[in-house]
Amino acid sequence: MSSPASSAAPMLAREMKAWVLDGPNELRLSTKPVPRPGPAEAVVRIGAVAVCGTDLEVIRDGPPALVAGGLPFNRNFTPGHEYMGTIAALGEGVDEFAVGERVAVEIHAGCGRCTRCREGMYTACVNYGLNYADHDKGHRANGFTTDGGFAQYALNHINTLVRVPHGMSDEEATLIVTAGTAIYGLDVLGGLIAGQSLVVTGPGAIGLMGVGMAKALGAGLVILSGTDRDRSRLEIGRTFGADEVVDASAEDAVQAVMRITRGKGVDYVLECSGAPNALNDAARMVSRGGRICLVAFTHGEAPVNVARLVSNNIYVFGIRGEGHSATRRAAALLAQARFPAKLLHTHTFAFDALPQAIRCAAERIGDPIKVVVKVDERHA
Ligand SMILES: [Zn+2]
Ligand SMILES: [Zn+2]
Repeated sequence: MSSPASSAAPMLAREMKAWVLDGPNELRLSTKPVPRPGPAEAVVRIGAVAVCGTDLEVIRDGPPALVAGGLPFNRNFTPGHEYMGTIAALGEGVDEFAVGERVAVEIHAGCGRCTRCREGMYTACVNYGLNYADHDKGHRANGFTTDGGFAQYALNHINTLVRVPHGMSDEEATLIVTAGTAIYGLDVLGGLIAGQSLVVTGPGAIGLMGVGMAKALGAGLVILSGTDRDRSRLEIGRTFGADEVVDASAEDAVQAVMRITRGKGVDYVLECSGAPNALNDAARMVSRGGRICLVAFTHGEAPVNVARLVSNNIYVFGIRGEGHSATRRAAALLAQARFPAKLLHTHTFAFDALPQAIRCAAERIGDPIKVVVKVDERHA
């Protein structure tokens, strides 16, 4: 245990298998050099990587990925951002981690030099995507602007590494970053969660994590809403501590919230559905002076009832990813096992079967929540 990291470090392989994005929806298994770490960097040998809804968008449409200033297609780009693994090599001067430690990751390293990075809002880095040629500000967002985790190895800035709690499986560890987004959303809502009431709209992985985390932080009433295609997810929401679940296909979600709260509304809404009318609905679910955090990406533009927001002093926040080191706090909270987060992991695929894993997630084949790809180390 006490041998120096350098002598304990295994030789880093020269080449690795990595999926690359050719055209839209065209992933190809390729070979790339294993990255070498610079100062403040580590190479992670990937153990498992989860498929996120945003991966599906990147692979199909491009944004929010931005590679060398453009769309991520035909640039030898490797997507995937919810990975975990083992530290395989450290850059010069890195002593914050040791080779062999299990780590999960955050996506955004930011540039570390813009106003937002300096405020801890590195997921809103002003220099997002400026990491190439004459524009290189050192920004990284793995799986979006730099290579991600659908590969055997990835390069990470040490600020984007989080130790995996003891006893946590690889599959569950891929959920740490998801929990980080939920914690960031709760932070942005004001942080005072204990005793307050919350609606989570949309029972995807982040929404369900939001339920579990809010209850773990002492929230009072927590209501989770979904539709009739979300039955199994709503059940998990109950297991995670939701006091009430609402099937919006059977009962209007706003009316249900008003029925449950006897017309008062709630303090907070964590909007994780991305539904076109979600903001207007949320504005009718909160009490006067309430707060809404928009987590889900929506498509297209939607009309908003601004007068309702203004006249009721309702605060609206949008978040991207997981800033303010939320991922580290999420890992600490998950380690306390206040709720069975691992229930979110429903499907597992082998590394070579990534396209099938993507299809499973995109088409919801077999009612998945989190689809995880195990990266086969025998090929390393
Ligand atoms: Zn994600
Ligand atoms: Zn920045």
